[in-house]
Amino acid sequence: SSTQAGPEGKPLTTLPSLEDPAARIFSGIQPTGSLHLGNYLGSIRNWLNLQQAATAAQLDSVQAQRKLIFSIVDFHALTQPQDPTQLRSDIRQMAATILASGLDPERCILFRQSHVAEHTQLAWPLQCLTPMGWLNRMTQWKSKLQTKRGLTDRQLQNFDIAQSGLCQGLFAYPVLQAADILLYRANLVPVGEDQLQHIELARDIAALANKTVQQMFFPLPRAVLTPTKRLMSLRDPARKMSKSDPQPLSRISLTDTPEEIHAKIRRAVTDSISQPTFDPELRPGVSNLLEIYSGMTDLSVAEITQLHAQSNTQQFKEALAEVVVAKINPIRTELVRLQTDPEYLDSVLAQGADRAREIASVNYRQFGELMGL
Ligand code: ATP
Repeated sequence: SSTQAGPEGKPLTTLPSLEDPAARIFSGIQPTGSLHLGNYLGSIRNWLNLQQAATAAQLDSVQAQRKLIFSIVDFHALTQPQDPTQLRSDIRQMAATILASGLDPERCILFRQSHVAEHTQLAWPLQCLTPMGWLNRMTQWKSKLQTKRGLTDRQLQNFDIAQSGLCQGLFAYPVLQAADILLYRANLVPVGEDQLQHIELARDIAALANKTVQQMFFPLPRAVLTPTKRLMSLRDPARKMSKSDPQPLSRISLTDTPEEIHAKIRRAVTDSISQPTFDPELRPGVSNLLEIYSGMTDLSVAEITQLHAQSNTQQFKEALAEVVVAKINPIRTELVRLQTDPEYLDSVLAQGADRAREIASVNYRQFGELMGL
């Protein structure tokens, strides 16, 4: 595959070529719970595809590690209240799940964000440049706040930030996210659709920083999307599937047993029409299930609806559950094995941090000097 031509800044919907010497990938995931199918199909799948692309481009291990940089972003997790013991265990669990999904720590960098202090160091000068109005336009902190406080849309509209007790970290975390990407001078960011607004902001911040230091120091990053841009909650197909949704039936996690997967899919909200057809507007529930089926099998939605033209909803759900179990079970087995080896997980993250720091410290120092620090 090759880099998709197209207007500057538009997200890529095909895999970029890693033969391009300028291609550098950064992506992060929060250790805020078990990895779910939305994370896997929307984001982690592209981490794995890019790892394959590095092999196809015949990059050796050192070259691949300079291009593929993946982080468990624990600083971001602090934007929500965390229990320290739980957070430490969630970080290891996230590392284990990502490795069990197929990420090879010899072919990429996998590390914990808080192990590389330059992330927060770079965030500060970027915060000093970023206008509050840009952050105020971001929708994600609003929807997180809405879920947490149970606000109606109208209450959210009339929301008074000064009176709300909203923490500065939750409001400003898109700047830290921009720092995460720019610290590696990355130009490609595999994410789900919910992150597009933040990648757009990271571009704007990069352009502003470049203008400030009067040179193109930071490349302007672009998002890389998978075909599954946004999976929706199994319980409420109007909301995205999310790790921090208090309702566990809303998502399928890579840690779920076959019985849990069958039960969750059986209870997924659909409609009264019998055969599965794809119509996200009119039939959001069943369309979301078709997206999952397609992501798990690489069959197109059209092929799946044809395959299940005679199935009623119950039969379709059973078939989907089988498909999901077949894909997830090997990952879960490997995950259980990795969980018994915390020393190995810690050593992967420590080595990853050493490699990330090598790149980060040079870039931070150079940018700091340009800023007069
Ligand atoms: P949280 O609920 O704690 O915010 P999350 O489930 O939204 O977690 P993140 O850690 O914020 O997950 O995101 C990790 C990656 O997964 C990002 O690239 C994000 O775009 C992607 N992602 C998250 N949810 C979905 C979804 N429902 N569909 C597709 N991609 C998703």
